Amino acid sequence: MEHFSKQFTDCNGNSCRVTWWKIKGNKPGPVLTIVAGQHGMEHVGPGLLPEFAEEMAKGDFSGELRICANANPFALLMDYEYYPEKEDLSKINDYYYSLFRHNYCPWGLGRDTAQTLYNMNRLWQREGDLGVAGRITAWLWEDMVTGSDIILDLHGHQHPALIYSGEGTDFVLSAMSGIPRLVMEDPSPDNWSAGDLTHQAYLAGMKSLCFEFSVQHARGEFEFEDGKRYLRNIMKGLRMLDGEIIHDHNIWKIPFNPPEDKKGILKAEHTGRLRFFVNYDDEVQKGDLLFVIRDVETGKVLQEGRAPRWGIVGSLTPYTIVKPGMFCTYVPVPELLLAAGTPATKFEENWWQK
Ligand SMILES: [Zn+2]
Repeated sequence: MEHFSKQFTDCNGNSCRVTWWKIKGNKPGPVLTIVAGQHGMEHVGPGLLPEFAEEMAKGDFSGELRICANANPFALLMDYEYYPEKEDLSKINDYYYSLFRHNYCPWGLGRDTAQTLYNMNRLWQREGDLGVAGRITAWLWEDMVTGSDIILDLHGHQHPALIYSGEGTDFVLSAMSGIPRLVMEDPSPDNWSAGDLTHQAYLAGMKSLCFEFSVQHARGEFEFEDGKRYLRNIMKGLRMLDGEIIHDHNIWKIPFNPPEDKKGILKAEHTGRLRFFVNYDDEVQKGDLLFVIRDVETGKVLQEGRAPRWGIVGSLTPYTIVKPGMFCTYVPVPELLLAAGTPATKFEENWWQK
């Protein structure tokens, strides 16, 4: 395992070292590059990649692995999405995180309210002075990403593992991973969104996939083995490892649903305590009971939430106490990308040389 690292210094003189590893297999094959830790509160990828790299360092595979587990140590050490180097960093002490305040930002730079270039995953291949995060992406692109055949970018959302997919997503690659669902994004990213690693890798002719684990601001050890299995599945599909890829669950593709897709959305009609009977990715039939809302004072059932159509459970509100008009769940109509028990398609022999 070869180590490459470089020291980076922010505008106030604070330094961090960024490291990536190169592991060569014992046979020729593609170059697979895995990046995690661009966003500082997404710790599952950074947590599992050192273990994965050590397991792979025995070298019993084809091709080459390049792994950067902690792309943004400045942000990871703060446990915050990005590193706003020019702001008053002491404000982070006032910050507290909860599921319900996902967009709260002590500097007023919340991701829905501002498109900040402190966000490392918007800076790939972008021109200009982009601060310390931009100098890191420029170095990683030049030394690690360039020359790769496939790029995987690991993130963390607040749902069970899923793939966010934009233009250029390789459906074969996503079905082989075993990640239960692929969520299609707006097919036309704006200039800001287009600065993400997987989009830029796609534009540069590589295959790329961005996927999300299910927790933020938490270690998430419960997902480490799943995460390593997704990576090994992808390596099998790329013929870097031997073996069939058979998943014990369906792989769903959820089409891009603009907000007008109201037919699948269920909202609360009463104030009360919400109780779900389903989980993410469960397949439901029209009329199935999804949740009830009970009165807090009497315990009586005030509302039964039933599936408005066939689909899968796409979303569950994190709220326990709901009020009239509040979103509860969403049932999208998905496409079956790969059925449970069906072997996934692999890439052709020597595909990376073509
Ligand atoms: Zn992220």
